[in-house]
Amino acid sequence: MIRYGLVCKDDHAFEAWFRDSDAFDALSRAGQVSCTVCGSTEVTKQLMAPGIPAKSNKYEPADQHMLAGPQDAEQRELMDAVRRLRKYVTETADYVGEQFPEEARKMHYGEADERGIYGEASLRDAKELLEEGIKVAPLPKLPDDAN
Ligand SMILES: [Zn+2]
Repeated sequence: MIRYGLVCKDDHAFEAWFRDSDAFDALSRAGQVSCTVCGSTEVTKQLMAPGIPAKSNKYEPADQHMLAGPQDAEQRELMDAVRRLRKYVTETADYVGEQFPEEARKMHYGEADERGIYGEASLRDAKELLEEGIKVAPLPKLPDDAN
C-alpha cells in the first residue's frame, strides 16, 4: 500500500491509500478517485514528504524581516529613527488591534472621525485598503529588547 497526498482542481488537499502507483493511475483515469471535500474527480497527486501534512508544504512568509551583520553608524541612526517613529505612533495613535482594516475604512468613508490608529492587518488587508485609495503604511516591528 502506498499513501498519496492528493489535491483536487479546487485546491482541496487530502490523502488516500492505493495498492501501488498503477492502481492510483487506473482509478483516477476511471474517475474513481474523488475529493473528500467537494467530490471532484479532477484529482492530481501532490508531491509531499512522508508524514508531513500537505498544508505545511506551503510557503509561509515570516512575521518579520530580521537583520544581521555589522551595523554602521548610518544604520544605527536609521534604526533609532524607526524606534522613535514607533514610539511616537504608539503614544499618539489608538491601538485598534484586528479592527484596523475596518476602522481605517470607517474613517476613509466618513463613518468615523479621523484619528491616528494602528493595529493588525494582513498583507492582503493592506493591499485591499491601498486599492480602495486608503492611505495606510506598514509600521515596522522591532523586538522589544533591541536597544
Ligand atoms: Zn475538492
